[in-house]
Amino acid sequence: MKNRALFIDRDGVINHMILQKNGNFDSPQNPAQIMLVDGVVDVILLMNNLNIPVIEVSNQPGVALGKMNWQLLENIENKIHSLLNERGVHIHKSYRCFHHPESGISDLKMICQCRKPNPGLLLQATSEYKLDLEQCIILGDNATDMEAGRKIGCRTILFFHTNDLPHKIKTKETYPAEFRVRSHAEVIPILKKLFL
Ligand SMILES: [Mg+2]
Ligand SMILES: [Zn+2]
Repeated sequence: MKNRALFIDRDGVINHMILQKNGNFDSPQNPAQIMLVDGVVDVILLMNNLNIPVIEVSNQPGVALGKMNWQLLENIENKIHSLLNERGVHIHKSYRCFHHPESGISDLKMICQCRKPNPGLLLQATSEYKLDLEQCIILGDNATDMEAGRKIGCRTILFFHTNDLPHKIKTKETYPAEFRVRSHAEVIPILKKLFL
């Protein structure tokens, strides 16, 4: 039997994006900046209770772009997972892309299949977890998350949050996601409808 899963993007969905000095929102640049998004614990708890794997799929080009070293990148990731664990929930596995086409580090500079909107991370999980993609859902806050999911036939939930700049909201509004939500509280009934 093939399995179901919830793919979840990290930055902007599990933890808040952070306003940087240049006026843009970016991923947390150190563990002290991490704040969980309201309600994400309830979303993960629902999946944990149903024994449906929650699989993080995240572009993490911080090292590739010279913003941080590997240790810091891992410290941020570990802090997010330990905050979730303290709240009694867990993510089964994280699949991350560390590449970037503009990286100054030759090993990381590439056009890869794993950087969303490409579906490589989801496909890695699919073979490991024997997933039936038609019964999987991706929850993300970017059109690129939706595109990665749509390319391989999984269902899509686009998360709108207050840390979106106007140009980004415009892109998101025109993107054909199956569901659009403005809070994790709105995600719960969708997951129940699809998974129960
Ligand atoms: Mg995101
Ligand atoms: Zn990659």
